[in-house]
Amino acid sequence: MDALRNVLTRLENEGAALGHFNVSDLVLLKAVLAAAGEIGVPAFVGASEGERDFFGTRQLAVVVNSLREEFDVPIFLNADHTHSLVKAIEAAKAGFDAIVVDFSALPFEQNVSNTKDAVEAIKAINPAILVEGEIGDIGTGSEIHETAQREFKSLTTPEEASRFVQSTGIDVLAPAVGNMHGMVESMVQGKTKKRLDVERIAQIKKATRVFLTLHGGSGTNDDDLRKAINAGINIIHINTELRVAWRRSLEGSFVAEPNEVVPYKILRPVVDSVAEVVRSRLRLFNEKHTTTSAA
Ligand SMILES: [Zn+2]
Repeated sequence: MDALRNVLTRLENEGAALGHFNVSDLVLLKAVLAAAGEIGVPAFVGASEGERDFFGTRQLAVVVNSLREEFDVPIFLNADHTHSLVKAIEAAKAGFDAIVVDFSALPFEQNVSNTKDAVEAIKAINPAILVEGEIGDIGTGSEIHETAQREFKSLTTPEEASRFVQSTGIDVLAPAVGNMHGMVESMVQGKTKKRLDVERIAQIKKATRVFLTLHGGSGTNDDDLRKAINAGINIIHINTELRVAWRRSLEGSFVAEPNEVVPYKILRPVVDSVAEVVRSRLRLFNEKHTTTSAA
């Protein structure tokens, strides 16, 4: 299997992006694997601190490793939103391919200093691990919010992005470019969509020349996602859409078979429902949006 860095570079040259899907159990993981295998593209499996606590950090790494050995599907493993050095080191030692160190809630200088320390500690364990840092406010919680948490007007500027990348040595940057974590009810119903500042993405890409991640991709306008990839986004996170599909399908299973008690019979349709969401996102991210005349 190609290294993650090479895969990201290849996808960027093709005008595509790596789909990132959060998992907290085997149902979600099987869904991502099935969808990626079916479409024949790489996929990024992510787990936040809460998701890792539930699955087990080392256990998740072992299961993902065993899946890529057994099936010929390039799936990579990301330690999403890691808020402490201890948790980052735990994930690095467990064998994760990438780690998101998130000190974005701290003042800028403190964020720089903590992120730089984390980069050094992680690279000392394994220099091949890609480290992502985050600046700006994109809210918290990949869940259904009552109302938009607030207007996220303070987008990341190209200047602070450049300073952050240069002073920390990160491989990947997660900027605030109109995205936000979670969805509001009207987005779940498909009535409203998140919109991105594509121009700002292009400016940040030009100023930093590193890989860029779009967090909180659930419920975003499809055309904005295509344009974001063209403007320099390399990784797109989808979590809430999967969680909504997981919950609804599970409820559907109980209603359809009220007396069923066999877990794998109840859960099989749930894998299929989540896989359908993953498939549709992977298709969009791998449409090859390049507009360069080089090809
Ligand atoms: Zn995120």
